[in-house]
Amino acid sequence: MDVFRTVANFIFGMECLGCGNSSERLDPWLCPACAAELVRESCSPAFPNEDAFCLFPMRPLTRRLVHALKYRNIPGLASYLVRRSSAVKRGMVGQELLMLAQPLYFVPVPLHHARYRERGYNQAELLAAALATATGGKVCRWLKRKTFVVSQTKLSKDEREMNVAGAFVPNFPQKMPARGSVVVVDDVFTTGATTSACMAAFGADFALPLKVCTLLYDEPSTAAADFAADCRADWDVLRSRR
Ligand SMILES: [Zn+2]
Repeated sequence: MDVFRTVANFIFGMECLGCGNSSERLDPWLCPACAAELVRESCSPAFPNEDAFCLFPMRPLTRRLVHALKYRNIPGLASYLVRRSSAVKRGMVGQELLMLAQPLYFVPVPLHHARYRERGYNQAELLAAALATATGGKVCRWLKRKTFVVSQTKLSKDEREMNVAGAFVPNFPQKMPARGSVVVVDDVFTTGATTSACMAAFGADFALPLKVCTLLYDEPSTAAADFAADCRADWDVLRSRR
């Protein structure tokens, strides 16, 4: 197997997504040093508010991995990262999730059609599927995106929240389950504006408890810069494909 991998790395030029070095021992995306670093990062899940859990902190390595998930067409990274999060099963997030009323319904933040067409997948949906597999829950597409949210790069935090508020509407089945808990899933928790808008879309009289789980938590001091960089990358991708 190692021989095949070495040959494949040589032929296809596979590199570690973390450090860019070629290695005969990618697992399949990280070299041993970056894989070990990811394990260390997974020991620091974040809880930005009482309703939100984030599996990894935003660090150079995790930032590169979520970027690869979104822009390098590597959908398999979603389950890879969830499976490597020590927080999911027996960690703090696992304990929090198990304390909620079961079963768990993982609701991905919907992607706009145009972006879905560009990317071919919704990373939040892949993360929701991986979380559902890890915890025995279900993926439910109970939200739809209503308006195309324009580039928010130049907007202030308040303006961004206004812009994204109302972007989501319910897409509930005819018969909603009477018990269980809803977990809204996204890739990155920045200001929390997106997930708050999703929670608002469920309505004030929604009967089940609502929580949020994201892959990364971006600390407020760096969130604005990351958000801007993220939007720029998003729009660069869209522009380059026109
Ligand atoms: Zn590496």
